Amino acid sequence: MRVLVIGSGAREHALVWKLAQSPRVTKIYAAPGNPGMGPYAERVALGVNQLHDLASFAENNAIDFTVVGPEAPLIEGIVDLFRRRGLNVFGPDKAGAALEGSKAFTKELLTQAGIPTAQHQTFNDYTKARAYLDQHGAPIVVKADGNAAGKGAIVALDMETAQEALKQMMVDRVFGSAGDIVVLEDYLEGDEIGATAICNGTSFLPLALSQDHKRALDNDQGLNTGGMGVFTPLPFVDAATSERIYNEVIAATLNAMQQTGVNFTGVLYSNIMLTASGPKVIEHNTRFGDPETQAFMLLLKEDILNVLEFASGRQVDPNALWYPGSAVSLTLASGGYPGGYRSGLPIKGIEEANKLEGVQVFHAGTALKDDQLVTAGGRVLSVVARGNNLQEAVDRVYDAARYISFEGMHYRKDIAHRGLEAIKH
Ligand code: AMP
Repeated sequence: MRVLVIGSGAREHALVWKLAQSPRVTKIYAAPGNPGMGPYAERVALGVNQLHDLASFAENNAIDFTVVGPEAPLIEGIVDLFRRRGLNVFGPDKAGAALEGSKAFTKELLTQAGIPTAQHQTFNDYTKARAYLDQHGAPIVVKADGNAAGKGAIVALDMETAQEALKQMMVDRVFGSAGDIVVLEDYLEGDEIGATAICNGTSFLPLALSQDHKRALDNDQGLNTGGMGVFTPLPFVDAATSERIYNEVIAATLNAMQQTGVNFTGVLYSNIMLTASGPKVIEHNTRFGDPETQAFMLLLKEDILNVLEFASGRQVDPNALWYPGSAVSLTLASGGYPGGYRSGLPIKGIEEANKLEGVQVFHAGTALKDDQLVTAGGRVLSVVARGNNLQEAVDRVYDAARYISFEGMHYRKDIAHRGLEAIKH
């Protein structure tokens, strides 16, 4: 099969790396891809938002299967476009991607279907939103309805922060039209986890539970980022809770989508808060997580192509998917990230790190400058390790990180701390 992967991050690098191991894959293209994909994929100079050009590329190059990494093209309807042109593509159509593209739509769907989530109100009028906020008080969460590149949710522990966030979204329009509608929702306390499943419209293949570390600094200090590290599976979630999540959240969401006439296909990756009164949905994503995918790909034993084809009807044994043990991904970020940072700084040590047992380094934001690999983003590399247990995976990932260097590089030292604590007790 000739496969096209759309995207340029570490998530797509990991997918390409794993697809290259499939005996059924003969050729991989990546648009636009990244320098790390060199050994496995031919790069195509098309951006993820050039939907028509991407479809034409797939047609002209006899692509059998396209995998869309990021959410933006899905929300824009790339899957609808590909299917109209008779092209085989993995992911939800535009109606399905609304689960990620519109927080107001999703909150409404969840509430109507009785799927547990925080209480909320939706507003398109600043004065009314402000009145509700003043009456509700803090803590509260202020969310832009539309896609704001992961920055559209402000967890406000005090009123000043909440008022400022609301004003920035609705009056100053810092997220443009994405903030014209705002969701104000109750603050949930608990452990935040991710649940990922592959969906075929009516049923799903449970993939894995994972925990991301969103804040930039150790002990969950600092600003929110795109994700500083992930581990999977989760030793502190028992089988009963896991089953509850897949039934009450994933299956129930698929069912609710069907009620609205949408057969949801592709990845459903839900952020869930494990609260004292049970699991509650924070948000749904309709594509693979980043850095979740990097950890999943290292732990996955099954052919990734088979897993993706579950979405189009292939039978896959959910009990034979994984190698035993754990996987941990660690983000190596530019100095200053998630604020301003410098680019173009030389990177050293990836080859040495890749030689270590169970370790794989994926590129997130890199570029080639005169044959030298340099930094080209906030999140630069995703170092991933698999181990026979969580401690071994953690040790391996931090060992590997020590081989790598670029000016200003920083990373969290406490990835998987919740997992390690749970194992000790
Ligand atoms: P979202 O963009 O909806 O995923 O929100 C970004 C982050 O804000 C989440 O990963 C949570 O850490 C936090 N968050 C969102 N909603 C809530 C909530 N209702 N209660 C507490 N934290 C939340």
